[in-house]
Amino acid sequence: MKYDCPHCRKPGITGFAKRWSSRAAPAKCEACGGLSHVLASTSSGIGAAGVLIVVVALIGALGWPSACSAVVFLFGLVLAVACNLRAWKRAKLWPISRESAAHATTANWFVTGIAVLLGLSS
Ligand SMILES: [Zn+2]
Repeated sequence: MKYDCPHCRKPGITGFAKRWSSRAAPAKCEACGGLSHVLASTSSGIGAAGVLIVVVALIGALGWPSACSAVVFLFGLVLAVACNLRAWKRAKLWPISRESAAHATTANWFVTGIAVLLGLSS
């Protein structure tokens, strides 16, 4: 399964690259070499939705007789995985330039550096 690149509109982004793409580590298109990523709000939202479904399934499972609870919980897990895959499939890829990707990486290190400094001084 490959996804369309927002630069050249060719399916040059692998599902794996899309799944792990971020501003600091964008996915690279195999056709044009363009960089793109899924918004951090989208990826964290998908993660939160998955956790929510599992928690609801767990609560639901506890309310059922023990013979059924495993089935209810398993159903919740399958639903969470299905929703996760579907959401990742639909998640929009945003183009990013090489410069901003490099900048985002620098910003990450900058924030980490400040966090370390604050940790040392407190
Ligand atoms: Zn491309």
